[in-house]
Amino acid sequence: MPELPEVETVRRRLAPVLEGRRFEQVEIADVRLTRPFDPVEVARELEGERVALVDRRGKYLIVRFESGRALLVHLRMTGSLRHAARGSLPADPHQRAVVSLDDGSDVAYRDVRRFGTWLLLEPSEVQAYLDHRVGREPLGRGYRVAHLAQELAGRRAPVKAAILDQRTVAGVGNIYADEALWRARIHPLTPAEALGPDEVKELHKALRAALRAGIRRQGSTLRDYRLPDGESGGAQHEFKVYGRSGEPCDRCGTPIDKIRVAGRGTWYCPACQRIERITRRAARRAGRRGRGARARCSHRSAGRRSGSAARSSHR
Ligand SMILES: [Zn+2]
Repeated sequence: MPELPEVETVRRRLAPVLEGRRFEQVEIADVRLTRPFDPVEVARELEGERVALVDRRGKYLIVRFESGRALLVHLRMTGSLRHAARGSLPADPHQRAVVSLDDGSDVAYRDVRRFGTWLLLEPSEVQAYLDHRVGREPLGRGYRVAHLAQELAGRRAPVKAAILDQRTVAGVGNIYADEALWRARIHPLTPAEALGPDEVKELHKALRAALRAGIRRQGSTLRDYRLPDGESGGAQHEFKVYGRSGEPCDRCGTPIDKIRVAGRGTWYCPACQRIERITRRAARRAGRRGRGARARCSHRSAGRRSGSAARSSHR
């Protein structure tokens, strides 16, 4: 599933071909893509719109039009976009939509599993829609350790589950969560609230480093990005833990282990990312906090509510 680095790579690739261009003709051949809206109507609404900017928030690709409207594209599992001269794209049973641009080229959307979505929003809807679903951009210039600390505070969920929540930090999925936790030497099951200030600082740094490495890797595989589904081999060999069960840890040589966290396959190094240390710390903290504090934090939703309030005060 594409995460921030993959979507950012698509954005960088599409921006030069879309910006300044007008959507001349749009065909959407899949009702699931625009659900609950009629694909024919959405296509008609899109025709005539001129692209001002190709943007991204978390895993959303955002085509911003001069009118102020925006098309939010979420690739989900298998969505991909291709740009080519008109008529040069091969017949493809998985093609779900085609946008004909005013320069004689086409952008085609392909999706094998059909989980991807296209949502056209009016100018007044765009910001609220995104703010409700997506937290801060981890690679944004203004992203501070304090922001991450604030999002993790009071959350008893495993830190991996917390950072997979798109409202904690935008664009992190299963791969980059594991990669970041390995870099920060944090066990994925550590309760988010049990992380000390130094660990949060390490995690902040690690998230950014893992995502940047992902963007660099995508950039380097981009040159031979020729397969219709946009897949290109080789990238997975550069992961530190993701998908590497039994292979030696780059840091200490211990075989990488796989567990399940929040229902997701999770890879980590049992030597570098120790659970013992963590449970002791969590126990100490729980002891210090006492019964009242524990009761207050016992509902995850309570933690989320206060987190949301804190977040909105920053916008
Ligand atoms: Zn290790």
